[in-house]
Amino acid sequence: MPLPLNRSRQLQQRAESLLPGGVDSPVRAFRSVGGDPPFVTRAEGAYLYDEDGNRYVDMFGSWGPMILGHAFPPVVEAIREAAGRSASFGASTAAEADLALMVQECFPSIEKLRFVNSGTEACMTAIRLARGFTGRNFVIKFEGCYHGHSDSLLVKAGSGVATLGIPGSAGVPAETAMHTLALPFNDLEAVRAAFAARPKEIACIIVEPVVGNAGAIAPLPGYLNGLRDIAHRHGALLILDEVMTGFRLSLGGAQRLYDIKPDLTTLGKIIGGGLPCAAFGGRAEIMNYLAPLGPVYQAGTLSGNPLAMAAGIATLQHLIENEQAIYPQLQKTTEAIATGVAAIAREAGVPLMTNQVGSMFTWFFTSNMVTNFASASTSDTAAFGRFHRAMLEAGVWLPPSQFEAAFVSTAHGPAEVKAILDAALRSLQTS
Ligand SMILES: *Cc1c(COP(=O)(O)O)cnc(C)c1O
Repeated sequence: MPLPLNRSRQLQQRAESLLPGGVDSPVRAFRSVGGDPPFVTRAEGAYLYDEDGNRYVDMFGSWGPMILGHAFPPVVEAIREAAGRSASFGASTAAEADLALMVQECFPSIEKLRFVNSGTEACMTAIRLARGFTGRNFVIKFEGCYHGHSDSLLVKAGSGVATLGIPGSAGVPAETAMHTLALPFNDLEAVRAAFAARPKEIACIIVEPVVGNAGAIAPLPGYLNGLRDIAHRHGALLILDEVMTGFRLSLGGAQRLYDIKPDLTTLGKIIGGGLPCAAFGGRAEIMNYLAPLGPVYQAGTLSGNPLAMAAGIATLQHLIENEQAIYPQLQKTTEAIATGVAAIAREAGVPLMTNQVGSMFTWFFTSNMVTNFASASTSDTAAFGRFHRAMLEAGVWLPPSQFEAAFVSTAHGPAEVKAILDAALRSLQTS
């Protein structure tokens, strides 16, 4: 039965006259899945509530940050308390080093870090820093990986770029894109060949250690350490973009899970507990190249914002104190959802490839193994669109694209697992 979405539809029309596509981030517009995007009024725990009074199990968690569920009371309280002391000072606060210390405890590879406002800024600046430190221009990234929307990283990118099926972006000069080498993920030979072709010109490799922005894709055994070895043999740096995986796959991110020490790491999403906050950090020798100590410039009016620091500290504190309980529970809940729906699809004769690492997963509508962007692209995106609409009508809000990972929070429990499996049973039988 179609959802009552009258008010959301009206709000969408009003928004479209003011905001291009009615949105501030493209994938929110539901273009690739069809149907009307519900307008959200509030969220609590595992649930989103829309303007028409519908309730949904949230399976995208604000695209990653909400690992503790929505409106988690200690986070709400921390933000409220900080706001009472003013939203911003533009001067240093104790909270910045407090949060930095927590990050460093979780990520031993990060000796020094800097806070910024978005994952885009973190990745853009990490690249600038790698170029400044090595004195080289070329960057290796991987097809289907998304590192934010800065010019040099919008080449064969994942997330909305992949969803909309555009190879790059208009407005990025060829002279800029030319310095970005986009290679297939999980293929060390391609990386060796790129270094062989440009022996002393490549500054760094940037990679999502577990890809989330082409849907969830795990690295093959030895792949990440292979990247590190090749980079170092050629005097280049390895940047792990853990904006999505940091504090999610383990407290120490993918680098702890796969036991790999990068030169630089970018963080975002969970680090700000839902507020705009991100960071990049790594070896002190490299980080000291940043202004005011070094020649690589970077700045931010709202960087280290006190509300974002407060939300980040409250979130990380809860994760650190409850690490032993939280991560195994997230794994178990996610497995129940991911494999439960996979079994329903099998019964219904729907080809579905399930990729899961910790609390991130994707159901690809293909019978092929998905190990890189090319294999992800064999998915039947029209079938995904039908599934997405049916699930939404059944009260489960999946990320509105085949090329995005779904996320589970600590607020998802047995009741939500059952609701998702019931919804999938109905959706897959009719799709
Ligand atoms: C979300 C994301 C980004 C960009 O972060 P924004 O805060 O949206 O700018 C960069 N890298 C990865 C891996 C991401 O998932």
